[in-house]
Amino acid sequence: MGQECEFLAECGLFTKHQPTNDLACQGFIKMYCQGPKMGECRRLEHRLQNGMPPSDDMLPSGNMLLFKSEDENLSQRSASPSLTGPG
Ligand code: SF4
Repeated sequence: MGQECEFLAECGLFTKHQPTNDLACQGFIKMYCQGPKMGECRRLEHRLQNGMPPSDDMLPSGNMLLFKSEDENLSQRSASPSLTGPG
């Protein structure tokens, strides 16, 4: 087994979004939390620099999850936010 980020069990990105975006979250976990890009995780960097975690909506790449508000019902659209990674 390889190494794993010490904050994985409590990382807000996953505690908040994994129930509705499990596949995308699994991809981030494989790439960052248990993978070769852990050292590039902006969430981890923010946490170490500030002593507290960033927004639950910040991705490991540093991008923020964006919720469409426009003139539609946000409560319905926000049920499945789009997780888009660096590719
Ligand atoms: S997203 Fe970053 S801070 Fe969160 S568990 Fe994964 S590597 Fe750690």
